[in-house]
Amino acid sequence: MTLADKLAEERRARLAAERLLELKQTELRAANEKLSKHALNLSRRIDETRAEVAHVRDENLKFRTDLDVANEKVELAERRLWHSIQTIRDGFAFFNSDGLLIGANAAYLAAFEGIEEVKPGISYGRIAEILIDEGIVNPDPMTAVEWLGMMLARRHDPKPPPLVLRLWDDTYFRVLEQPGYDGDRVVTSLNITDTVRYEEELKAARYRAEAANRAKSAFLANMSHEIRTPMNGVVGMAELLAETTLTEDQRLYAETIRNSGEALLVIINDVLDYSKIEADKLQLHPEPFDLERSIHDVAMLLQPSVRDKDIRLLVDYDIFLPTRLVGDPGRIRQILTNLAGNAVKFTEKGHVVIRVTGRNDNRTCTIHIAVEDTGIGIPADQIEHIFGEFNQVESEMNRQFEGTGLGLAITHRLIDMMGGTPWVESTEGQGSCFGFHVTLPVASAVEADPASLPQRLKHAMIVDDMPVNRQILERRLAQLGVRVTSCASGHEALAQMDESVDIVLSDHHMPGMDGVVLAETMRAEGWDNTPFVMMSSNPHFDKDQPGRNCVQAVLQKPVSRRDLLQVLSIEAAQEVNAPCADCPAALLRPGGTPCIQMRRQACATNGPPIFGDGCDSPSRPAPVPPLARRMRVLAAEDNRTNQLLFEKMVKDLDIELTFAGNGAEAVEKFASFAPDIVFMDISMPGMDGKEATCRIRALEAQAGTGAHVPIVAVTAHAMEGDARSILDAGLDEYLTKPLRKAQILDRIAGSCPADARAPIAAFEPRTPKARAAL
Ligand code: ADP
Repeated sequence: MTLADKLAEERRARLAAERLLELKQTELRAANEKLSKHALNLSRRIDETRAEVAHVRDENLKFRTDLDVANEKVELAERRLWHSIQTIRDGFAFFNSDGLLIGANAAYLAAFEGIEEVKPGISYGRIAEILIDEGIVNPDPMTAVEWLGMMLARRHDPKPPPLVLRLWDDTYFRVLEQPGYDGDRVVTSLNITDTVRYEEELKAARYRAEAANRAKSAFLANMSHEIRTPMNGVVGMAELLAETTLTEDQRLYAETIRNSGEALLVIINDVLDYSKIEADKLQLHPEPFDLERSIHDVAMLLQPSVRDKDIRLLVDYDIFLPTRLVGDPGRIRQILTNLAGNAVKFTEKGHVVIRVTGRNDNRTCTIHIAVEDTGIGIPADQIEHIFGEFNQVESEMNRQFEGTGLGLAITHRLIDMMGGTPWVESTEGQGSCFGFHVTLPVASAVEADPASLPQRLKHAMIVDDMPVNRQILERRLAQLGVRVTSCASGHEALAQMDESVDIVLSDHHMPGMDGVVLAETMRAEGWDNTPFVMMSSNPHFDKDQPGRNCVQAVLQKPVSRRDLLQVLSIEAAQEVNAPCADCPAALLRPGGTPCIQMRRQACATNGPPIFGDGCDSPSRPAPVPPLARRMRVLAAEDNRTNQLLFEKMVKDLDIELTFAGNGAEAVEKFASFAPDIVFMDISMPGMDGKEATCRIRALEAQAGTGAHVPIVAVTAHAMEGDARSILDAGLDEYLTKPLRKAQILDRIAGSCPADARAPIAAFEPRTPKARAAL
């Protein structure tokens, strides 16, 4: 091998080595680059991981901090809550569902100071035992055992009622127990000592006020006694004076004295009643009574005032409503007298209707009584206050009428006491309607059966110029199944009369043709067989009025349901002009007592029979044998003026009168004089009226004949309780001074025995208020 070959070989080798080197270097560079990229990646990843780790660490740290904060907060809230519970003045404790104390505040635990046992874990029942055993609680009025029993019962009661605890130191707590979470029980005890003390003070103040009220009532009772005694003289003597021969002027003076005296008595009675109600002294005395009768009594006593005016007073008593009820008749009459009296007082023209409707469920009856009038009415803005004390309508018109302004207030209170509700509707200038409803038990007496009308009665004719009167009768008759022809005048009646009419019911005073002339004309026109019944507010016929014999019966207005039924039953059942064989035979009233003389043909001397005109009235005494003895009347009265007054009041009576000056004398005279009636003054020196009556009743019992002489108490006392004690002493009845002649006459006439002759000539008490007292 040549050198050149060698050199060339060497150069090739060197070139190859250089190329390899270069290649290796390139590879190395590439590897380096890759390595450094990788390293870069790695370090980036490391950074990222580091950042993630740092983040997670941060998060973790934060979470831990939040938890700590939350825990702290819970602890703080608990501390605050507990602190608050500790600071409240009232006791607070809660028990778990097993009745073990979970916690209680200081106020609750204060009651158990020094008793270490009372702490969380103690039972409800043990706490109750500690309260009693340690004398912490005063169980009065219960015994300790009863009290513990009561507490144990509370423990098992899911919602026990509030309980008042009185502690040994006279502090009071109201304990309230409520169900808590998951069967827990939360107990709070509120210190109510101040409230209890305040209530006690109030009670004491009320007691003092009541005592003052009682003193006021007693003062009023005494005052009324003091006023009534001299008023007895004033009113009574004025009454007697007015009956003597007087000049016009003198009569006016005497009447004025009597009327003013009576007005004063009405005021005294109002004030007394009101004060009695105020002092809760007024009591109701329920008894069976006839409501319809009471309403008619009220209507009757208002008749004199009605007659003086251009008005009519009507009663519309629902025919299917019972009339026998149980209530306080005196107080019901007082309510009705107030309402109807006002209606008459404030009405100058038109009518006043007392309307009675209601609902009857056999045992009780809810009665609605409304008194409607066509009077001056009440302005809308004053209606609301009208039932208040001393409230009267402020108007020129109203000022013309007298009054105390207490009537409606008393009425309201009486209705309240009966559990009823009053109401009023009124339009000024048009009229008012005052009413009330009240539920009363139905009395057991059998009601007259309205269905027992004679078959024959099918068609009735009503003749009355007043539409409201016709309406009432139409409704009543329609309810009885009777067809009605209504006529507004006598002429209309004559025009409408036909064979089918079974009975004619006609008003008395009508414009144009009055009832009597109508009766006469009907007879003259040949309607002989149709009974003609007259309705009149003044049922006593003028003796000389020729047509009176054409009238078969007279109904006193306002017509009561009972009288209407009675007259319909009798008149329609019988033939007119049947022989007058039984004249003057007595017609029996439902009670069985002889009432009126009934003739089919009007009697020539007495006129037609009258229904509803106070059948017990002494003005029409029953016939008695002419040789009957005189009635004997004993009056026990210590006061000379009152003796004189009594003597004068009965001077026209056909009686034997004797006086006793005190109780002992009254007993003596009772034995020797054998009176038919005794008027007994209650306050007399020595033996009083009550004692004397007890002795008289003992004498009667000893005699064993069963005789019972009526003894009427006469007293100026007017307070509740007096009446009861008087009646308990054996007296039959109670009259308050001043006595009115009408009252005395009424009682004497009512006691006339069968073997004595009738003592009285006709009389009529004058004013409604005076009659109300009868
Ligand atoms: P008195 O009638 O004694 O004034 P009341 O208490 O009975 O007292 O009546 C109070 C007032 O109510 C009457 O003064 C009158 O203004 C009014 N009043 C009562 N009833 C009626 C009535 N029927 N019509 C108009 N006003 C009446």
